[in-house]
Amino acid sequence: MKVLVVGGAGYIGSHCVRQLIAAGHEPVVLDNLVYGHKGALTPEVPFYEGDLGDKEFVGKVLKDEGIELVMHFAAYCFVGESVTEPFKYYENNVVATLRLLEVMHEVGVKKFVFSSTCATYGVPERLPMTEDLAQAPINPYGQTKLDVENILKALSHAYGLSFAAFRYFNAAGASVDGSIGEDHQPETHLIPLVIDAAVGKRENIKIFGTDYDTPDGTCLRDYVHVDDLSRAHIAVFDKLSEPGQAFFYNLGTGTPNSVREVISAVERVTGKKVPVIEDVRRPGDPPALFADSTKAQTELGWKVEFDSIDKIVETAWNWHSKNPNGYND
Ligand code: UDP
Repeated sequence: MKVLVVGGAGYIGSHCVRQLIAAGHEPVVLDNLVYGHKGALTPEVPFYEGDLGDKEFVGKVLKDEGIELVMHFAAYCFVGESVTEPFKYYENNVVATLRLLEVMHEVGVKKFVFSSTCATYGVPERLPMTEDLAQAPINPYGQTKLDVENILKALSHAYGLSFAAFRYFNAAGASVDGSIGEDHQPETHLIPLVIDAAVGKRENIKIFGTDYDTPDGTCLRDYVHVDDLSRAHIAVFDKLSEPGQAFFYNLGTGTPNSVREVISAVERVTGKKVPVIEDVRRPGDPPALFADSTKAQTELGWKVEFDSIDKIVETAWNWHSKNPNGYND
């Protein structure tokens, strides 16, 4: 299938491009390179630089390339920034996405795969988290993703758009060959920051809160490998052939790890000691988030390949060792 990967130079999008090729599909990348990296592009894949909200530009790409399905990864994803700069988040994550959906509708592209997030649930009612839990985001980032889920439902109902929204838990790791990986500017995610602390690029890692009601007092999260996430996106294609289909899946391993466990995993994998500072809680962090991904397993035949935190950290460490300064662009 001819697939437009919007945000294909970003972290998850670039890994998905590789998985699409491996599965025999033909990806085309659209990215404005604001957060994406040229170094994350796959040379043989057509690349269009521009904004997803630019209807004329996107419409031309859809038509010229004969796109059948659009995957959308091009969202801003920093929770803290979404609280202080909500205009930026609503503008890109909702308004520009609406423009993208509008031009898809005009051109007649009727299949869509969307990067959503477990942040749409807010503080969950139950653990592990199934798809039927109430969605009550506690920050604008999660709200923008929920807004798009709701837009998609309406478009599916009104115009027969078929879509899948994947609610990711904590995307982590890098490609096994170490050629692409995680390089956010600024980096806020735990695993790359702990690796930086292990190699001395940072003085230490601060643990945000050690007094949570969890076994070791630190937050529990469900770290899931970026290639496992990508494979689920491709496994859903067959279900989108009928018009008007709407699917929602939680994607996580189901096994939570605490902040301290992630630090220990980095120490084991790198063989280096990580300097740790115990700090106060970060506002807006729920104590525990982990997935029940039975639905994705049953309906998509999805199986997690990277089933331990050490396996995930090994790939992040491999990427870091080969690219100590990230993409350098
Ligand atoms: N965390 C931490 N120190 C850091 C960065 C993150 O203790 O420097 C914690 C954070 O409070 C959360 C977990 O690590 O409990 C994962 O955070 P991350 O930002 O990677 O992902 P999130 O769960 O916020 O999407």
